[in-house]
Amino acid sequence: MTNSTSIIEQTEKYGANNYHPLPIVISHAEGVWVEDPEGNKYMDMLSAYSAVNQGHRHPKIIQALKDQADRVTLTSRAFHNDQLAPWYEMICEMSGKDMALPMNTGAEAVETAVKTARRWAYDVKGVAQNQAEIIACNGNFHGRTMTAVSLSSEQEYQRGFGPMLPGINLIPYGDLDALKEAITPNTAAFLIEPIQGEAGIVFPPKGFLKAARELCKENNVLFIADEIQAGLCRSGKMFACEWEDVDPDMYILGKALGGGVFPISCVVANKEVLGVFNPGSHGSTFGGNPMACAVSIASLEVLKEENLAERSLELGGYFMDELRKIDNPKIKEVRGSGLFIGVELTEPARRYCEDLKQEGLLCKETHDTVIRFAPPLVITKDELDWAIERIVKVLS
Ligand code: PLP
Repeated sequence: MTNSTSIIEQTEKYGANNYHPLPIVISHAEGVWVEDPEGNKYMDMLSAYSAVNQGHRHPKIIQALKDQADRVTLTSRAFHNDQLAPWYEMICEMSGKDMALPMNTGAEAVETAVKTARRWAYDVKGVAQNQAEIIACNGNFHGRTMTAVSLSSEQEYQRGFGPMLPGINLIPYGDLDALKEAITPNTAAFLIEPIQGEAGIVFPPKGFLKAARELCKENNVLFIADEIQAGLCRSGKMFACEWEDVDPDMYILGKALGGGVFPISCVVANKEVLGVFNPGSHGSTFGGNPMACAVSIASLEVLKEENLAERSLELGGYFMDELRKIDNPKIKEVRGSGLFIGVELTEPARRYCEDLKQEGLLCKETHDTVIRFAPPLVITKDELDWAIERIVKVLS
């Protein structure tokens, strides 16, 4: 029988133990709502780590998926396909960049960004072979491949997986002096999340992004923004870098790029940067596949047509105001941008997430003491009020 208990038992029996999910099974979802096999309904306040910004099973995106499934799903890049070309043009226009390189997962796009930066350092900047350096930030999360964990400051992400990739220097997040000091003639790129998601919705000091971007320009260092989580309307702007009018050399995108329907990620940059690739230098069997591209075109259209950036900004502001009214000494800070909100507690957040689940709200603690509130951006004011009522009850 497929009830929640048996599904969880089956998962625990056969699955590698690399996650610690809340004990809930989701078997159906629509918009901001999910349902378990027993028919209990919950509001999704995580949005699959911001992959479902457009809401679960957005009709337009599902239609694009179905239509494309009836035509062609995979060609590999050995041949052209008729969805990749319009997707290229669309993502380049939206990001203001010359070219894009599609992959599947966020970590693969980060991998691509690092490879681009290294090759750019050798071929364009003139760094001696194998000497290129990448500067990243403490507390970052760029994924789980060897490159991504090599970039991490979390020991647990690296334990047992060594040796790590060389040529990586870490600085404290938001520390301009440290960045100045870390830059050497061999620095290829500075890689940063404009808002650190997994670290607990953490912001650099105001003005840092802008100053860091200028510093990179002065030193011929690529400024690479990992907007896999913060981008695509989550923070209240299409790109979180827009908050400081920063135009990075490269965006790394993923998650909501496929509307939570089909995996697709990419890097976008200008020709001087992304032009370093030649046939045979990089790729992926599924990268740029027609299913992903058709779904991504629809997903990007939904972001624009439904003004999800404005919606995130407006509802996020209201949500944060309400959260700040909660009188509880255990709440250390409420911070956020748009519907990308962290409530930092003075104690572990897991218990609160479990209590919120009992009230019909799904959220996940991040970095122990932070509750992340990041609902699908299609959430209505009424639905948000429904959530706030329950959050106030649990947190008060
Ligand atoms: N970069 C950032 C900022 C992320 O938040 C994530 C995922 O949470 C990743 C990279 C990795 O993406 P994926 O899990 O799709 O590999």
